[in-house]
Amino acid sequence: MSNDVQDEVKALLKDIKEKIDEEKQDKKYINNHGMACPVCGGPDIHYSESSFEGSGLNGYQEVECEGCGARWCEVWKMVGITNVEKNIKAIDKIV
Ligand SMILES: [Zn+2]
Repeated sequence: MSNDVQDEVKALLKDIKEKIDEEKQDKKYINNHGMACPVCGGPDIHYSESSFEGSGLNGYQEVECEGCGARWCEVWKMVGITNVEKNIKAIDKIV
């Protein structure tokens, strides 16, 4: 194998390893119900309510660890709605 091919294979293996590590980190975070920092494992997680961004069926919430200063985004998916309140005045106008 030439050095170029060896370097390419090494780079591909590194990418695959990083992807597997990310998936493991994801699973671990979800198994902990989002209550432990993915970097240090600490419980001092701070959610910034104003940082939630939704787009279609997906949402992203910024999170920060008070313990080690790590930051990440939680990825949310819409699964339904609840607590729908009808506007009685608007319904009167329609009827
Ligand atoms: Zn941390």
